[in-house]
Amino acid sequence: MKPVSELDWRRGEAPGPVVLSRASVLDPRRGIDGVHDVVVRDGQIAELAPPGEAEVDGAEVVEAEGKHVFPAFFDPHVHLRTPGGEDAEDIETGSRAAAAGGYCGILAMANTKPPIDQAADITALRERAATDASVPVGFLATVTMGMQGAELTEMAELRDAGAAGFSDDGLPLRSARVMRRALQYQQLAGLQIALHEEDPELSGKGVMHEGPVSAMLGLEGIPSVSESTMIARDAALALYEEARIHVQHLSAKESVAVVEAAKAAGVAITCEATPHHLTLTDEEVRSLDAHFKMNPPLRAETDRQALIEGLRSGAIDCIATDHAPHPPQTKEVPFEQAAMGVTGLETAFAVIHTEVILPGVLDLGLAVEKMSSGAAAFDLDPPSLQPGSEANLVLFDPAAEWEAGADGWESRSENSCFSGRQLTGRVLMTLAGGHVAYRQRSFAMGVAE
Ligand SMILES: [Zn+2]
Ligand SMILES: [Zn+2]
Repeated sequence: MKPVSELDWRRGEAPGPVVLSRASVLDPRRGIDGVHDVVVRDGQIAELAPPGEAEVDGAEVVEAEGKHVFPAFFDPHVHLRTPGGEDAEDIETGSRAAAAGGYCGILAMANTKPPIDQAADITALRERAATDASVPVGFLATVTMGMQGAELTEMAELRDAGAAGFSDDGLPLRSARVMRRALQYQQLAGLQIALHEEDPELSGKGVMHEGPVSAMLGLEGIPSVSESTMIARDAALALYEEARIHVQHLSAKESVAVVEAAKAAGVAITCEATPHHLTLTDEEVRSLDAHFKMNPPLRAETDRQALIEGLRSGAIDCIATDHAPHPPQTKEVPFEQAAMGVTGLETAFAVIHTEVILPGVLDLGLAVEKMSSGAAAFDLDPPSLQPGSEANLVLFDPAAEWEAGADGWESRSENSCFSGRQLTGRVLMTLAGGHVAYRQRSFAMGVAE
């Protein structure tokens, strides 16, 4: 395990001291839950002082009464679209979007144009992140050359160049033989393999979840078993090879059951669910709005319930956004032709807060924990609020009412499925690696007065 801040980012000069006064501090992983003055000095959490008592020379004091301080979030599943898709996103805009969402670190997928399958690609991206990234960014390399699903990449070489893991995300590993070989090579390279689980034979030309809504709309469906059967295959292979896997964007109740059974059988398997799969269903697709088109698709209410139960039971390890920026021309077309994927970094926790925490469906502490636990699946230490830790924290106003997207986006793309939605709770400030990575605009004005 290494700290998130060892990923690449524009670290900059050592920041001055900050005091978050009278904040409700919650770090469930470390058993911290109380009102404190959070003192940040030399980039570290120096002290959790009694409320109103911290006095630090030269510190910026932020009045945080009634606001939450959480460990900052970590997203193991982000598409930064560089190289080749900079009209949709790049390291600078994507990492700014992450900071605005309360994230102190993200992992970027390798399905760029061209895909990241060479050590030199990893080196180039890391160098770019060192000048452009507002928060630490890790870069995954592909599992197979060109994401063709046939020939494995030089995994040990990619690891030596600093790859954060491996994934052909965007596409499944169709061949069980190639998957098995990748798991054997993982024993040497050591890094996590993240999987987009889908059987292309079952998905066919599907554009949404297969069920009553797809039947009613006359659209071709992607059945839940397209996902769950591949997870079962790969869990069996991981067990056989004594390897480990991370399953991306779980969407179906059958998949939750497979992961539960695999964990019970001792498979080293972790998995993630997205805010959109946790809060929306295929009912949204009745609008034929392409902003509700993604892969895996929004599924039925019973699937959504199973994902929430999976967070509670521990079957699902973390919440990840699968932030997938697309330029407008790929979304402003008929549903069948539209690109799959939605942005998500800037709304992730506000959506979870509004849709499942405030209604009492999911415990606040559990949700906060799941927003950063994805780090551990990739051998990174989840952020901590314990004194002595590097300051990776988010200041969150649980009462702030706002409309998603009304003030624009930090991301270069606007394909959010939550655009226009009224949300309760907003990230006011993000500290990453001790630095202020983000300050919400109206809040920043408040501080200056
Ligand atoms: Zn995927
Ligand atoms: Zn993805």
